Amino acid sequence: MRSIIIAGNWKMNKDAGQTSEFCRQLASFLKEHSHPRVTALLAPVYPFLAQAREILESTPALVAAQDVSAREQGAFTGEVAAFQLASLNIRHCIVGHSERRQYHLESDALIREKLIRLREQGITPILCIGETLAQREAGETEGLIVSQLEGALQGLELDAGEDLVIAYEPVWAIGTGVTATAQQAQEAHALIRAWLSQRFNPATAQRIHLLYGGSVKPGNIAELLSCADIDGGLIGGASLKIEDYQAMYATAAGLAGTAR
Ligand code: PEP
Repeated sequence: MRSIIIAGNWKMNKDAGQTSEFCRQLASFLKEHSHPRVTALLAPVYPFLAQAREILESTPALVAAQDVSAREQGAFTGEVAAFQLASLNIRHCIVGHSERRQYHLESDALIREKLIRLREQGITPILCIGETLAQREAGETEGLIVSQLEGALQGLELDAGEDLVIAYEPVWAIGTGVTATAQQAQEAHALIRAWLSQRFNPATAQRIHLLYGGSVKPGNIAELLSCADIDGGLIGGASLKIEDYQAMYATAAGLAGTAR
């Protein structure tokens, strides 16, 4: 059975002090409440990755980057390369978030390059995919999910044990307070898992964590995690408050041992 990942995507929020404070509070929470089948993961902005890593060093919590350059190294002002993340012992990185696709016009081809850079460094990509409201209303959800998966993973193979996390995040649910229903989310996750099974193999598809993202909060996480193919959340707004983060982690811990 897959474990549960409670991933906080902090986007461009929290300064250095706020980042440290949250991490210290999370570290002391995990000392008492850490569950072996629930992984806490936080994605602060680049400048604070090292301090977050250091404060959480003695805990099982993971620290992820929010993005990575598609380039290896060199004259690319403002970019951060995968080898630099690896040198900070960062083992996870979000790629293809809808805000990157929307505001930075990232294509599936570029996202694929980023995936390659991360895998070269042994960093697990958290690949975000999901449809806009217009695409859902036009009946294009399935086609869009498949084309984003095909584009980002084109020509890539996963070795046994190699990790990939996929976050299904319907764009209309991100930061809007509107959550996909558990049924809508499960349908999309089942489609993704079926696609992975065909594209790779059934064992790989069963191993890969599929996270749901889009206005997850303490009040709706239990229903979402009860779905067979939802293995956690990629959570923006509600991951910023330690009380909410702890509540969602505790809910996941309560469900982790059950046949979800
Ligand atoms: C996200 O940042 O990926 C996200 C899902 O945000 P929110 O939880 O605020 O909708």
